[in-house]
Amino acid sequence: MSLQERIDQTIRNVPDFPKPGIQFKDITPILEDPKLSEEVVAAFAQFWKGKVDAIAGVESRGFLFGFPLAMQLNVPFILIRKKGKLPYQTVSYKYDLEYGSAEIEMHVGAVKDGMNVLIHDDLLATGGTAGAAAELIKKEGGKVAGFSFLVELEFLKGADKLSSYSDVVQRIVS
Ligand code: AMP
Repeated sequence: MSLQERIDQTIRNVPDFPKPGIQFKDITPILEDPKLSEEVVAAFAQFWKGKVDAIAGVESRGFLFGFPLAMQLNVPFILIRKKGKLPYQTVSYKYDLEYGSAEIEMHVGAVKDGMNVLIHDDLLATGGTAGAAAELIKKEGGKVAGFSFLVELEFLKGADKLSSYSDVVQRIVS
């Protein structure tokens, strides 16, 4: 069985979470399998090796594979978090959701001028979150090297939304 198939079979589909009509892709069963988790990190690493100066992981599931990937590639790992979670001086970006808005933050100085940054999260849905992360990287003088996700919900066409930042969108399962 391919890595894609094994990941697809391991992810737990939870209907109607967090609200009716949403099928939640629960990746926690992958974390319970260290061998599979290692293969996931290796698949990301193979794709991005030598192409990035840093990895920015999006809270919170973007931290799970993002940080081991950064260690494997020997590059800095940067946390992108929801407003109010980071202790030091931050730069923030506010973006629209279907209902209301959200704000994400990053520590000032984490992105160095001209740094080629990979934006990583567990799942690409509408692309709103990853796009906001890209805005944050640009605001701090970085370049968006591309995006990586474990899963893409293809029908939501999130990659289209990200194309203005980078055409390089790696997804292991879509
Ligand atoms: P979006 O901004 O619409 O691309 O949503 C992506 C963010 O929301 C990621 O951080 C995902 O972890 C989370 N997310 C959205 N939809 C789902 C879903 N169906 N299952 C699991 N996580 C989701």
